Amino acid sequence: MKILVANIGSTSLKWRLFDFADGERLLHKGGFEQVGDYARAIEDCLADLERSGVVTSEREIAAVGFKTVVAKGVSGCVRLDDSAVAAMEAFNQLAPAHNPAYVRGIRLFAQRLPEVPLVGLFETAFYQWAPEAAMRYAVPASWCDAGVRRWGFHGASHKFIAERSAELLGRDDVAERARRLYVDDGSTPVREPALRVVSCHLGGSSSISGIRNGVAVGNSLGMSPQSGVPHNNRVGDLDAMAFPFAIRALGLTVEEAERQLCNEGGIKGLSGVSNDVRNVWTAAQGGNAQARLALEVFVHEVRRWIGGYFAQLNGADALVFTAGIGENRSELRAAICADLDQLGVVLDANANVKVRAQEAVISAPESRVRVLVIPTNEELVVAREVKRWLDRRGSSTTKPVPQTHLSTPA
Ligand code: AMP
Repeated sequence: MKILVANIGSTSLKWRLFDFADGERLLHKGGFEQVGDYARAIEDCLADLERSGVVTSEREIAAVGFKTVVAKGVSGCVRLDDSAVAAMEAFNQLAPAHNPAYVRGIRLFAQRLPEVPLVGLFETAFYQWAPEAAMRYAVPASWCDAGVRRWGFHGASHKFIAERSAELLGRDDVAERARRLYVDDGSTPVREPALRVVSCHLGGSSSISGIRNGVAVGNSLGMSPQSGVPHNNRVGDLDAMAFPFAIRALGLTVEEAERQLCNEGGIKGLSGVSNDVRNVWTAAQGGNAQARLALEVFVHEVRRWIGGYFAQLNGADALVFTAGIGENRSELRAAICADLDQLGVVLDANANVKVRAQEAVISAPESRVRVLVIPTNEELVVAREVKRWLDRRGSSTTKPVPQTHLSTPA
């Protein structure tokens, strides 16, 4: 069974083809940047798959999977029919860098491959079992009814970490629960004691999740991917009153203020240098005070969220770093883990500096909390879920957002 996973950006198309015929295998990966004509890019992707010999005909593609972000009233792993795509469009405003591009790409795939099921694994799905108290803002009920609540994002990545960290820590029972999260109610039994993981997905877009026994207890991203810690060019958490204040004080339109928060904020806005941490680090090393401050703010906010999940989880067994910054930037990992010995976190400085984009333990032997680097694999999570969807195919089309539960499974 061959499953194509398409990762759609506003000007990029990346793909991976997985085969589940005999275990799970990555057959092919590729992509295009600076895509102007999306229909052409899809055509070239399909041609590339045939040229490489990984499929002899498009009919071999059992489904195309998408790491969809957020939709009104839809979550989980669902078929991307017209109503699901319309539900994504209804939340375009929450994820302007993601939803419109996905909607366009999905419609083009549907035209080009009308016989092939298109299936989305929503980033919000990982948080369906998070406690309601972790997902609510203190707004009037009418706001909540309109959708003003935390959804949480980076679900595919944090789910990968939930599963993989449990395997690495010898907790196959917890890994099994994490594996089954989207197909049962998250209540697969596990042994005592609870496995507590704080997962730090730090990249162009960053978020921290607390995970107990494979199930998320929350995520630093809230109603939109514009929240939580500062991102490459997106603001992160901001006092709600700052938005109307800035509109009035700076004479901005709502649209212009939104654009600035989504494109001119974050590391880029703070540093005035770049949205790429590599350039900001170089500038900081060269004495640029704003660049240094940008990195300090980033580290400060990441530590604040880590601290929050240490409290929610009553400590942690593992602190995990993943994604572009988490996997590659040892100096930021060191800054984030500095002076946390009272929380049980002691980094092995030598091990830390050597690790780039590979699975490794970077904590000292005496560290109560195991600090791990785990390269994430979001596409694999999507492909696995799409395979499960195909296996139980026919049982449903779009699925409503599951009711959130007042307590997580033990
Ligand atoms: P991501 O969105 O996960 O691709 O992460 C992007 C961020 O990670 C950028 O700010 C980069 O500075 C950083 N990053 C990504 N890849 C590398 C790498 N190979 N070496 C150093 N930093 C990297």
